[in-house]
Amino acid sequence: MAAGVVNIRRDVDDKFYRYRMPLLLTKIEGKGNGIKTVIPNMSDVARALSRPPTYPTKFFGCELGAQTSFDEKNDRYIVNGAHDATKLRELLDVFIEKFVLCKSCKNPETDLIITKSDDIIRDCKACGERTGVDMRHKLTTFIVKNPPKTKKSKGAKKANGGDSPTPSANGNHAQSETAAIDAEADGGNSDDELTKRIKAEAAELKAESALAKEDWSVDTSAEAVKARTKALEAQMGTLGVGDDDSDEDADSPYSQLKTWLQENRDELSPVSVYKKAEELGIAKRHKTVQVLGQYLFDENIIAEINKFLPVFAKMVTSEKHQKSLLGGIERLVGVDLPDLTAAIPKILMVFYQGDVLDEEVIQQWGTHVSKKYVDRDTSKKVRKASEPFLKWLEEADDSEEED
Ligand SMILES: [Zn+2]
Repeated sequence: MAAGVVNIRRDVDDKFYRYRMPLLLTKIEGKGNGIKTVIPNMSDVARALSRPPTYPTKFFGCELGAQTSFDEKNDRYIVNGAHDATKLRELLDVFIEKFVLCKSCKNPETDLIITKSDDIIRDCKACGERTGVDMRHKLTTFIVKNPPKTKKSKGAKKANGGDSPTPSANGNHAQSETAAIDAEADGGNSDDELTKRIKAEAAELKAESALAKEDWSVDTSAEAVKARTKALEAQMGTLGVGDDDSDEDADSPYSQLKTWLQENRDELSPVSVYKKAEELGIAKRHKTVQVLGQYLFDENIIAEINKFLPVFAKMVTSEKHQKSLLGGIERLVGVDLPDLTAAIPKILMVFYQGDVLDEEVIQQWGTHVSKKYVDRDTSKKVRKASEPFLKWLEEADDSEEED
């Protein structure tokens, strides 16, 4: 982790955690009665939290019983009195807990929405839940008076925009549509059941991430170095390794990864899988995620994707990676485990909600039959089975445009 950058949830000690913010800095200015604490990087921190810089500053004031002042033009955020950085960082954690994190899944990708009755709601981009904030806190008065400006959120096209302050109209849209997919995919789970399961799985994943404190650094033992050298030699000696899609010879790092996945199926963890890819020298290759997509999962694929989501979040770094992952999944559900074909909408949903697959890439994939990974008929079949999810994506889009 770069110096001066911390996890937005500082209680999560996990290098995979994707939500980071600059470490809050302070500078004491003036003296005597005029002494004050300036927060020179308040706007950077606030940007990472998708909140106006005035909110956390005002929050500090509320908590410390201190006056605050902002000069937004000159980017100056000030709390009167002398306060040390540690204290303000702790208070920032409280602010994040109360006004940023989704109450349900603890994901920080939320928008604040102010309802007609002046309640403040956190609208979660990750799980779709809308949870209220504690309206007894003094900051709520400030927020209602100074509502967040509508901005393009990171997820841009995802979910219900945010410029409409009425949560009633399409608040449960995403969830009911998800349930519809679910019902079509395996013939009738209730709305609530799926919602519950997604939440449970999200919670499990968070717990897993929190527990993953193992050392992720590169193994430098002689054995590991030898393995990496061998992998490098294999890459240099074999034309096209990495970028071509023909089947690999048994010695290629991809074949080795496949064999390793199959042999260690019962002991795999996100950490061990990532380490193995590093050891083989292919952690950054798009073809690696194709191999993972095809060989990492079995019948429990939904739970397993959730478990290994951090690996994909880390390794799927481009559109090409996304396409490779879809290729691997296509082989898995189309050829290796055809019983899973019906689960493809759910599979896509989990990767989509985990921010591993983008809407545009899924749409593109879903509307173009391809012989790249499987034969034409299988490709068609898999896309046909994906339709409920593709339709949902499209409708989610349309409803946003109507807003
Ligand atoms: Zn959530």
